[in-house]
Amino acid sequence: MDRIDVVIVGAGLAGLSCAWVLSGHGLQVIVVERGDFAGSKNVTGGRLYLKPINAMGSEMLDGAPFERKVVRERWSLLGSANSVSIDHTSDRFRNEDHSYTVLRARLDRWLSERLMARGVFVIPKYRVDDLLWENGAVAGIRAGAEEIPAHVVVAADGVLSFMGRKAGLLPPLSPKAYAVGMKEVLELPEEKINDRFNVGDGEGVAHLFLGDVTKGVFGGGFLYTNRDTLSLGVVAGIGAMMGRVPALDASTLLEMFKERYELRRLLDGAKTVEYSAHVIPEAGYDGIGKLCGNGILLAGDAAGLALNMGVTVRGMEFAIASGMTAAEAIVEAKASGDYSEKGLTRYGERLRESFVLKDLEASRRVPGYLDNDSFFSYYPETFPGLVEKMMWFDENPKGSPGKTLWKELRSSGMLSVKRLIELYRIRNI
Ligand SMILES: Cc1cc2nc3c(=O)[nH]c(=O)nc-3n(C[C@H](O)[C@H](O)[C@H](O)COP(=O)(O)OP(=O)(O)OC[C@H]3O[C@@H](n4cnc5c(N)ncnc54)[C@H](O)[C@@H]3O)c2cc1C
Repeated sequence: MDRIDVVIVGAGLAGLSCAWVLSGHGLQVIVVERGDFAGSKNVTGGRLYLKPINAMGSEMLDGAPFERKVVRERWSLLGSANSVSIDHTSDRFRNEDHSYTVLRARLDRWLSERLMARGVFVIPKYRVDDLLWENGAVAGIRAGAEEIPAHVVVAADGVLSFMGRKAGLLPPLSPKAYAVGMKEVLELPEEKINDRFNVGDGEGVAHLFLGDVTKGVFGGGFLYTNRDTLSLGVVAGIGAMMGRVPALDASTLLEMFKERYELRRLLDGAKTVEYSAHVIPEAGYDGIGKLCGNGILLAGDAAGLALNMGVTVRGMEFAIASGMTAAEAIVEAKASGDYSEKGLTRYGERLRESFVLKDLEASRRVPGYLDNDSFFSYYPETFPGLVEKMMWFDENPKGSPGKTLWKELRSSGMLSVKRLIELYRIRNI
């Protein structure tokens, strides 16, 4: 087989977005995917922020099968026997295209069909085993006895990227650098979702949970409303889970989460139709390896381009933007005929100029700051307890509200030097 321009490993958002730009420039591109179809193996919590990728991604995503526009944000701190929640909504969220809930099996499949209509080969059930090499440069891929020689390989094979590792571009694996996500999709009629979550047609809710959901370890829970399903899940740091005594696995956390009073009525009658588990990069900026080598580029999760802040994970818009940016760098490399690391180096430079590396770098200290059990046990236990004490009235005289609050703040340790230092350190993250 003659060398084609580009072979992309992985039909996730990074790989498909890369193929979209390459095909727009007339390059020969093949996308290979180990799953039965694009999206079949891909897991996300469920919320895609559109603003950061508006300029580059709006044409590609025109008519995309999004689920609901997120118009309500809910945050809940879960203590073991109580909780406190914030419910935020605004005209801005309702009037602008800020973020949408998505189901990847639907979105990725739609995008791959769009690409095929443009003449791009997206080949499912094709698991890549190895890279081809020539004179110290990657020169294509191997799957079983088959080879596809190419000038450039884009490793868009997701977190743990086998291709990135084969090319020697990624740092060694460490449990602290990854989290595990367990997710269920539950069916519920559209009108019931509207009623239970207090939203109109097409409007949705992003509800994030911190605290008892992970039983004190780094992570959180999420509940997103889709058109006629709910996406419910738990994310927990692998390193933190390994060190936990007694040991707990993530699927048990999800089962316990579903039994919480706060969720029971929202989930009542909802039927689980999908169950999945997936790893998430957690190391942030410091976990990013080399973005390219001779004849190879890494995009999306494969490059570690995801931001996990315990409750929120941002990865999809980074995957789309990095896939498209990789494609632009390849187009330039083709024009100069230089597919070496030097020829592809514009990729990293462009990412550095974009929100991708700027946002990741700005939040660089977040993983270190959150490596502190207080955020997942002490605060979620203390705040709801404080509110409970303020709102509890019985036969005993209550005392003035200010004095009661002060007394409770002191006795809970909220005013201790340790807590004040923790608060003060926020300005450094
Ligand atoms: C539980 C959970 C919640 C999340 N929540 C959010 C959220 O709300 N918002 C957000 O923006 N991000 C979220 N993320 C992160 C987001 O889902 C990822 O960052 C994003 O999916 C990365 O896209 P990708 O294209 O890089 O990788 P993937 O979507 O993982 O795609 C990689 C593809 O490569 C294929 N592949 C792998 N190896 C091979 C091989 N050897 N041969 C052929 N094909 C291969 C896989 O089958 C897969 O299709 C969440 C992640 C998880 C797990």
